Amino acid sequence: MEEAREVRTTCPYCGVGCGVLAKIAADGTTSVRGDPDHPANFGKLCSKGMTLGETLGLEGRLLQPEIGGRQAGWDEALDLVAEKFSQAIAEHGPDTVAFYVSGQLLTEDYYVANKLMKGFIGSGNIDTNSRLCMASSVAGHRRAFGEDIVPGVYEDLERADLIVLTGSNTAWCHPVLYQRMLVARRERGTKIVVIDPRRTATADECDLHLALDPGTDVLLFNGLLAHLVLTGKIDTDFIRDHTSGFDATAALACADAPSIARVAKGCGLAAADAQAFYDLFAAAERTVTVYSQGVNQSAHGTDKVNAIINCHLATGRIGKPGMGPFSVTGQPNAMGGREVGGLANQLAAHMDFADEANIDRVSRFWKAPDIARRGGLKAVDMFQAVADGRIKALWVMGTNPAVSIPDASRVRAALAKCDFVVVSDVTRTDTTRYADVLLPAAGWGEKDGTVTNSERRISRQRPFLPPPGEARADWRIICDVAARMGFGDSFDYRAPAEIFREHAALSAFENGGERPFDLGGFADLTDEDYSTFAPRHWPASERGERQTRLFVGGRFPTPDGRARFVAVRQEATAFAVDTDYPLALNTGRLRDQWHTMTRTGNVPRLMAHASEPAVDLHPADAAAHRLKDGDLAQLSTRFGFVRARVRVADAQRRGHAFLPMHWSGQFAARAAAGLLSSPITDPHSGQPELKHVPARIVRENTGWTGVLITRRDLRPTGFVHWSRHAVEGGWVYELTGTEPPDQGILLARKLLGVRPQDQLLEYTDRRGLAYRAAAIDDAGAMAEALLVAAPDQLPTRDWLVSLLATRQPLSTADRHALLSGRSPVPMPAIGRVVCACFHIGANQIASAVASGCDSLEAIGATLRAGTNCGSCRSEIRAIIDARQVQAAE
Ligand code: SF4
Repeated sequence: MEEAREVRTTCPYCGVGCGVLAKIAADGTTSVRGDPDHPANFGKLCSKGMTLGETLGLEGRLLQPEIGGRQAGWDEALDLVAEKFSQAIAEHGPDTVAFYVSGQLLTEDYYVANKLMKGFIGSGNIDTNSRLCMASSVAGHRRAFGEDIVPGVYEDLERADLIVLTGSNTAWCHPVLYQRMLVARRERGTKIVVIDPRRTATADECDLHLALDPGTDVLLFNGLLAHLVLTGKIDTDFIRDHTSGFDATAALACADAPSIARVAKGCGLAAADAQAFYDLFAAAERTVTVYSQGVNQSAHGTDKVNAIINCHLATGRIGKPGMGPFSVTGQPNAMGGREVGGLANQLAAHMDFADEANIDRVSRFWKAPDIARRGGLKAVDMFQAVADGRIKALWVMGTNPAVSIPDASRVRAALAKCDFVVVSDVTRTDTTRYADVLLPAAGWGEKDGTVTNSERRISRQRPFLPPPGEARADWRIICDVAARMGFGDSFDYRAPAEIFREHAALSAFENGGERPFDLGGFADLTDEDYSTFAPRHWPASERGERQTRLFVGGRFPTPDGRARFVAVRQEATAFAVDTDYPLALNTGRLRDQWHTMTRTGNVPRLMAHASEPAVDLHPADAAAHRLKDGDLAQLSTRFGFVRARVRVADAQRRGHAFLPMHWSGQFAARAAAGLLSSPITDPHSGQPELKHVPARIVRENTGWTGVLITRRDLRPTGFVHWSRHAVEGGWVYELTGTEPPDQGILLARKLLGVRPQDQLLEYTDRRGLAYRAAAIDDAGAMAEALLVAAPDQLPTRDWLVSLLATRQPLSTADRHALLSGRSPVPMPAIGRVVCACFHIGANQIASAVASGCDSLEAIGATLRAGTNCGSCRSEIRAIIDARQVQAAE
């Protein structure tokens, strides 16, 4: 038997980039814990990171190449990909092929994909799903600094006196980083301001929440700049010595935001709150402004980024400890993708197409005379080009555009009619349905390479499992196709370490210190050095310069060495609500889910927090639309519709609705936020407006409701609405229809899967309006149960779900109780899971509060809830508050 071993690797979810120790026990089982030595997390993990060990099963994995839906060998599949791409290029030119890639790829995968498309195919048509996430920050950085650079490091958040979180639900989306901020708040009194139209979990622990109107961020930050100018709180020496463009920018800001009253009115804020924010910012020398998707995912995202950066340049708060603008990335390797040039408008190693010298330099380095000479199509435009036939061959790598690109119905239609679609991925997704060739890629735990987190720290992802079936590393698949297209000499890598060395060497090639993105110090790593590579920041030049924080001393990578103020004005928002679409719909993440749930959706612990697609509404809006909590509703925009349960939430802003971005066709009938989103993009970054679209909502008149609790993994068809969530031992399918109950029973019964060896118990009520069935396997355990009833008439299902998990033979009493759905002995229900880390439910917390635990600390000491990643603390506090209000009444 093999010895247990522990492998040091990196979490594959968000841009915090936490270090993970994966322990493989002698029996082959894997468990994970936070790496205490990793400087991003010092041993902490959030609920998603903690459950990584539960994502390593083979459910839904692609194990073998497929051509047209049939299994194929690698040679046949790779030959076909190379042939079709070569044919399209020969007949129609290089710009008729495209790669759409992902921030899930490792830097080495990204590097060879970019090199193949831009260097050897000779087109700029490679873009990444980071376009949906970070492109506005990239464009804003390049306008202000001359290069796409995040100047600060995480430590700055612990040294700041003021942290401004704008467009960032950090508590849920970057939980470990958020906990570092809260420690600073507790220990040194750091003030936190949250700027977000929604009252998120992040806003629950802050000193000031500005619930501004969607899309008015430029006005708010122009108002801040004007305030700083008018109150003399600017750093005139820094402006004079290290920047350009201040006068015009300040003049426009003052014209745009002439008074705090005008700002407050334009942003939908109380003037006192805007004033309080401005006073805090003016007073705190050490200020970090953290921004994320709420800023980036906008038709004016780049202007928002520059409005923020302008305030930091005006105060000289950049390149110094505890201060600076700080864009945090959504994906684990969005930064690595930006570094290699994975965005269509970038070339490679932070060099762009604007300068012929860059093209010449990269061409010589790659020995690629046919290199692309201009940028390619950005994501939304790329899928438009697929739709209108300009793109003949498309390769999607590790991402799910059929769900995530806005106006997803059009994207699906485009994929369906594209001449040739290749998808390489780890699991089946809504996008793999459109693949002519499907290539199985290695997943987390199998991949070998590097990622860069939000603070420019490069860490290793190390493999600790062999790829299952015939899955292969992405870099290997790309190089094999390149070789078949005739470029084998330039893609002859034997291991990711070789690719990393080349990537590092390119960043240093003819650099001479002008380009801060310089990994020259890593260009000569040995295989052993690469294997043991410890997390570290770039730049790391071959001259031995090592810097953590950038722009120290006020020197910027622009031609004159000065940072550039960018004059921006508040533009009208892309869409306004109107009588047809009266709700402002916002989309975003849930606490325990990741992207389109391809990994997290299989983990029962992570599905327990929000197990059905739900749209959040303010109580007054719900009442105005005659909706109540739990109703099924149709939510529509000018681009499409979805169905989701109504969740009436006091914290939801009136006139606004919120829909999570995660639900795909793998987990619900029709609930993908991408079906609703607008394809309007920012003119500078090409990033789509995902954060705001006018919507309307109507109640679905449901005739019946049902639940199937089963061991089987299904994708139901023919139902108006279904969703599913993983539980221990199987799945729960929530079913709803607009048909009368008797027809609903007929429909739902088609889902029952009774095997010859199973015993079927059935009951139909006398009027034919309710139905119960259970299948008992040959060992006497419940294999599945189906309950159908009129809306709101189903019993709770906790006991039946627990029977699925135990797989124990049923007692006689259990058998008798089975069709009632109720345990024959009292079984306390834990309620909705609040703390995913320790699986603690709302009912358990409420009873602890009832017995005297009246603080977060007391709940933590009693139940452990909230003591790990901390992202459930706001919900625990809400339960405590509600209980105390009840007691007072
Ligand atoms: S905060 Fe959570 S999801 Fe993000 S890297 Fe850390 S463990 Fe992973």
